Amino acid sequence: MSFAGSMIDPFGRSISYLRVSVTDRCDFRCTYCMAEDMKFLPKKDLLSLEELDRLCTVFIEKGVRKLRLTGGEPLVRKNIMHLVHELSRHLESGALEELTLTTNGSQLYRFAAELAACGVKRINVSLDTLDADKFRTITRWGDFSRVMAGIDAAQEAGLKVKLNAVALKGFNDAEIPDMLRWAHGRGMDLTVIETMPMGEIDADRTDQYLPLSKLRADLERQFTLADIPYKTGGPARYVEVEETGGRLGFITPMTHNFCESCNRVRLTCTGTLYMCLGQEDAADLRAPLRASEGNELLSSAIDEAIGRKPKGHDFVIDRRTRRPAVSRHMSVTGG
Ligand code: SAM
Ligand code: SF4
Repeated sequence: MSFAGSMIDPFGRSISYLRVSVTDRCDFRCTYCMAEDMKFLPKKDLLSLEELDRLCTVFIEKGVRKLRLTGGEPLVRKNIMHLVHELSRHLESGALEELTLTTNGSQLYRFAAELAACGVKRINVSLDTLDADKFRTITRWGDFSRVMAGIDAAQEAGLKVKLNAVALKGFNDAEIPDMLRWAHGRGMDLTVIETMPMGEIDADRTDQYLPLSKLRADLERQFTLADIPYKTGGPARYVEVEETGGRLGFITPMTHNFCESCNRVRLTCTGTLYMCLGQEDAADLRAPLRASEGNELLSSAIDEAIGRKPKGHDFVIDRRTRRPAVSRHMSVTGG
């Protein structure tokens, strides 16, 4: 049986991008992402790497062209490079256009060369500050110098690195111009992200939330920003910064809803498929995966899930809405 084709949702959007959270665990505890005392899934609930490979392969056969590994921290999953090696066969065959990952950079110094050897061309590294002390504060457990060594290793291995920074009021807003100059000076794009109300954390999100429209207005006092049509398959809208010659992306789930062009779905490490980052709608793919050796049941479960992909999210952050819009943390679906 062949599953070749494309997955089209009820709003006519073609689903070609799968993000896979390979673990919910992480070696950092970023304050906007996790509580310090997080409860993680028991290891027995996780899909094996072979099961993840099988699931990804069915999605690729059904039209996924771009696959991103994320987490938690994808590079802390045991033997993760085994999965990367396995998936790279789809790059070689041409079925997959891009295999990439989003990482906090802590383990990159170990894996950068191997990732490049597997055909990974670009990676996203999350970095919210260039100040080692502030880095420790925001990540709680992170080591700045290791992330810097990871970025060096990635660039030496020929990987294209894009930095992602969550814009946090009073924390890194004043630092974004320096981060921009630093990133562009090293040939890296920078994308800033609005903080999203996902999962209970120890802090109050209204204190952290910074609308990017405000950040952009502030940046425009120092830089000339020109809107450009550049796209990477994700939701960022890009500008070119005349003074540095580099690109700056804005991911604005709060101030500008980008759902109309959404092409992606998200798979968790237990085989739950989330059709929208900002909604609770989900489908269990673990049961059909394990129910038979063939992929027919799995393929129908995927079709059924895509058939009820929601139109969009409705995130709000204000003083009255105290509870997160979705109860799961970003580390479950990987952002
Ligand atoms: N651990 C990896 C990392 O940090 O890059 C991958 C997973 S992390 C959940 C993916 C991205 O989501 C990171 O760039 C992180 O900054 C972002 N993120 C986490 N929680 C967020 C939130 N509540 N709002 C906006 N972005 C968030
Ligand atoms: Fe870990 Fe990434 Fe969440 Fe930070 S943002 S706690 S690095 S999963």
